[in-house]
Amino acid sequence: MTNRNRNMERAIRRRERKRLADLNRNDRSVFEVMIKVMLTALAVIIGLAIWIWAAEAQAEEEAFAAVLRRTRLIHREELMDTECFHVPPLPEVLPADGEPPQAIEIKEAKQAEELPAEPAGHWENLGKHKITHYCPERCCNGENAWETASGAPMTFGRTVAASAREFGFGTKLLIDGKEYTVEDRGVGPGCIDILVPTHKEGRQRGRFYTDVYVWRED
Ligand SMILES: [Zn+2]
Repeated sequence: MTNRNRNMERAIRRRERKRLADLNRNDRSVFEVMIKVMLTALAVIIGLAIWIWAAEAQAEEEAFAAVLRRTRLIHREELMDTECFHVPPLPEVLPADGEPPQAIEIKEAKQAEELPAEPAGHWENLGKHKITHYCPERCCNGENAWETASGAPMTFGRTVAASAREFGFGTKLLIDGKEYTVEDRGVGPGCIDILVPTHKEGRQRGRFYTDVYVWRED
């Protein structure tokens, strides 16, 4: 092999090595571009996911705030207007075991009724009524603060408001073992509003369903 031939062969090999190296570099740069594109796409997807999550959380928060506002509105309407049928019925809560407390108290009341001094009559169960509470002030009575519809003085532990369609004034009711007298109006049938000294106490006592008994003279 001549020197010339050897040189030519070297040159060819050099060129071939360079070509391969270039190819390799090209492959690497394509690979790098692909990685960059994938990382960018990943960042965009994560960003979108976070944005959607934040938007959903905000929507949920707003929905919750709307429910709260609506609940307060219902509560205020009920206190002002005591129109209890605007409010969906509450689930009836009874003690986990044994008899409900009101039943026990009613038994005691029935024993008392058997005493000879009591007038002849009996307590008739009218079934579940919604019990709410109101105070004597303007917040619950508007212009008629400290006045009852019957003209009787507001008396804590005695005065209750009930519907004219259900009870006349002076009707005796037994609720949770305590005796009350219908002396006020402002609620619909199926609802008894019990007078309490303060608005706060009324709120603490809350609303619930329980059996209401009416006194029937024999
Ligand atoms: Zn009030």
